[in-house]
Amino acid sequence: MVTMPDSTVAALAKYEPVIGLEVHVQLLTATKIFCSCSTQFGAPPNTNVCPVCLGMPGVLPVLNRKAVEFAVLAAMSLNCRINETSIFARKNYFYPDLPKGYQISQYDKPLAEFGWIELKQDADKKKVGITRIHLEEDAGKSLHEGFADAAEKTAIDLNRTGVPLIEIVSEPDMSTPEQAYEYLTLLKEIILYTGVSDCNMEEGSLRCDANISVRPRGQKEFGTKTEIKNVNSFRFVREALEYEIARQIEVIESGGKITQETRLYNPNEGKTYGMRSKEQAHDYRYFPEPDLLPLVVDEKWRGEIAKRLPELPEARRARLVKDYGITDYDAGVLTDSKELVDQFEAAAKAAKNPKRVANLVQGELLGRLKAKGLHIGASPVTMQGVAMSADLVESGAISGKMLKDLYDLSFERGKDFPVVYEEEGRPVQSSDTSALEKIIDELITANPKQVEQYRAGKKTMIGFFVGQVMKASKGQANPQIVNELLAKKLEG
Ligand SMILES: [Zn+2]
Repeated sequence: MVTMPDSTVAALAKYEPVIGLEVHVQLLTATKIFCSCSTQFGAPPNTNVCPVCLGMPGVLPVLNRKAVEFAVLAAMSLNCRINETSIFARKNYFYPDLPKGYQISQYDKPLAEFGWIELKQDADKKKVGITRIHLEEDAGKSLHEGFADAAEKTAIDLNRTGVPLIEIVSEPDMSTPEQAYEYLTLLKEIILYTGVSDCNMEEGSLRCDANISVRPRGQKEFGTKTEIKNVNSFRFVREALEYEIARQIEVIESGGKITQETRLYNPNEGKTYGMRSKEQAHDYRYFPEPDLLPLVVDEKWRGEIAKRLPELPEARRARLVKDYGITDYDAGVLTDSKELVDQFEAAAKAAKNPKRVANLVQGELLGRLKAKGLHIGASPVTMQGVAMSADLVESGAISGKMLKDLYDLSFERGKDFPVVYEEEGRPVQSSDTSALEKIIDELITANPKQVEQYRAGKKTMIGFFVGQVMKASKGQANPQIVNELLAKKLEG
């Protein structure tokens, strides 16, 4: 974490940061955007390639319909207007990982525009605008390590060349690194819900560049911006922005000028470094791609895609609170991933008391999963198990303590709750009142002082006795019955 020097904190009263984000998201199609090569990650280098994605002379691109549908779905989930006609354009530049010498992207007529994401942290629920979302192909990858001669040579893997991407460009609407962090978190959550990308940052399925400038508060014109490129975690984006804001203010305060440039963030040092200035920046010589027709997404097609738009996280949280009588906090935890909330809802519908299911998932399941480093999909206790266990507690057949023990056994044995419940001989909590009465009578004889206190009006003393009875019954007693019996006996 970068700590801002006191001078910066003071200067922030004078300066306002202006932040915009560009996010590249890889679409989860089985094949590439303009050819039928596989998009599978981790295949041996240069095996998922063909003349089209290698940019051989004379080949023609054929647009992948699925990539368009995924891009439209993402754009709809981010409240964008889908343009009926958009145009592919060539972005020309020379780089070893780009065999054609140009990237097919979209320029002045993108697929979608005018979207937004609403931030929640600020009291005023700030809306961050999304300028545009366009479709493009990914470039290949230069490799600098992990092969023989890596010290002298650079290798190239073109498997990624032609993998479909969307670029999501925000308005410069954010003014703090925290807002940028929240925007990215919400963006990723929404995209994950739509299922069009796995947003896996380690594998490069989600990449982020940040534009940042500062200006005196009250000034309308933007200051000179720098672009921080290729930051590979949201935390690092936040840190890089914190560093860059402090750096820019310091330069201006000491009478200097900000150079418009691309900078790289070094997370080990917590600093950004200049990479190339605007003078060296590329002139991409965009022009319409002559080998592709204009992309037309008409109303009918838009309508078909819209039907596949799932309920998005924010709407889902609101509905969970309403449908299951749980708190906003519970809803937030349970919608952490689509898989979790889908499973939770299945269990909540199957069980008698949905609120109890919500408590069980949070109180008994998620903690145990975290301790074991397991994903919800790998949980030994399935949601059918959760529903069953919730009903057993609900009916009084087992106690909360017994449920905890059975969950422990499930995780130890890697078996689902119903299996362990059978293996343990379908245990039931004791509601055999004669046995309980015997225990209580013994306790009353053994603890005359506490009985006296209770009878003198200290009614909370019943908790002491409940605890003793539960201990004596090894957690098998039904707490409700214990309470009733105790109240009766203690009144004498
Ligand atoms: Zn190919």
